[in-house]
Amino acid sequence: AYVIVSPCIGEKAGECVTACPVDCIQEGPEQFYIDPDTCIECGACVTVCPVEAIFYEDDVPDNEKEYIEKNRAFFK
Ligand code: SF4
Repeated sequence: AYVIVSPCIGEKAGECVTACPVDCIQEGPEQFYIDPDTCIECGACVTVCPVEAIFYEDDVPDNEKEYIEKNRAFFK
């Protein structure tokens, strides 16, 4: 799945929400999150994000790895 990481905090541009074909991006109090069980890994959200906050899970930078679980946890 794709993961939204820290640059989204305070930005919350939200372009990703309308770009997502399966409607799996939801707004949280601090940032947007991607439901990893619904994401079809199309990558559409990546290109529309103005702050480059979205990465494929295997490509999340080391200092942002905690966001993999943070995205998942939002949907529990
Ligand atoms: Fe939605 Fe595609 Fe982004 Fe997954 S990769 S969150 S399916 S737009």
